[in-house]
Amino acid sequence: MRILVLGGAGFIGSHLCERLLGEGHRVIAMDNYITGSRRNVDHLLGHAHFSLIENDVTISCDVDESLDAVMNLASPASPVGYLDNPIETMKVGSHGTYNALELALRKGARFLMASTSEVYGDPKEHPQKESYWGHVNSIGVRSVYDEAKRFAEALTMAYYRKHNLRTRIIRIFNTFGPRMALEDGRVVPNFVRQAVNDEPLTVYGDGSATRSFCYVTDLVDGMLRLLWSDEPNPVNVGNPREMTMTEFAQAVLAAAGPECRSTIAYVNPGAARVADDPQRRRPDITRARTILGWEPQVSLEDGLRETLGYFRAVRNRAA
Ligand code: UDP
Repeated sequence: MRILVLGGAGFIGSHLCERLLGEGHRVIAMDNYITGSRRNVDHLLGHAHFSLIENDVTISCDVDESLDAVMNLASPASPVGYLDNPIETMKVGSHGTYNALELALRKGARFLMASTSEVYGDPKEHPQKESYWGHVNSIGVRSVYDEAKRFAEALTMAYYRKHNLRTRIIRIFNTFGPRMALEDGRVVPNFVRQAVNDEPLTVYGDGSATRSFCYVTDLVDGMLRLLWSDEPNPVNVGNPREMTMTEFAQAVLAAAGPECRSTIAYVNPGAARVADDPQRRRPDITRARTILGWEPQVSLEDGLRETLGYFRAVRNRAA
């Protein structure tokens, strides 16, 4: 198969490209490096079936070969990433998604939209099922991401209904692993970076907010099962093991081992960073289980060990 991965030099995109190449597909990665990095796919550049194209999909999106699938992962995705790039985030969710859908239509390709648990906002239902419509502040600081992804879902469904395009929508919950950007401000890279540097782990507020963390290879597996399925409606993919940020900090310290001298520090990162911060998040993955036969395989502890190893290697290279 020939597959175009938009956002292919991002954290998840790079793992997706790697997996697709491993399965024998031809992979074209497109990225404008706004938050992704060429370094994430350096190791794939010599592969005979891999190409990397620098391009801004908000302006245009085209390739001069046939395609079997277009996978749209292009967007800043961390709170710091989209708070720093609010207009670009709205443009990639809207113009970028439109350009990507038009390309899929021209090529007769399948289309997968990488959506997010942020479409549920600060949820009033717990855990979150796909049938929940969400609780989003349309003018809050996070709205540039949340509403762009909600728009992208709506546009994807419009192409499904109007053109019978084979569209898929994955709602990605918190995902982690090697190649997360060290400075992207999310809780996993922050805690892991702090742990490998023996610095205090910065828990925001009282540490009672919850998340559930899925290892990136599990996420990619769910994403591909969905791509090749016949399911046009959104499917949550994430790990249902929910924990508070205090419990997560403790898990990072345990995985870092006794030689790590970090402690836990409760800090106030400023109003903008925590405004509309969802207080609870856990996916209901019944649909992924029943429709895709998908279940996460990698434990938090194993995933953290891999991620710590990657962050240590990056630290040692920089030293
Ligand atoms: N958080 C934290 N310390 C950090 C970074 C984030 O306690 O150094 C908290 C944040 O307030 C939120 C949770 O961790 O409650 C997850 O935040 P993240 O930025 O990873 O992404 P989100 O799930 O909000 O998209």
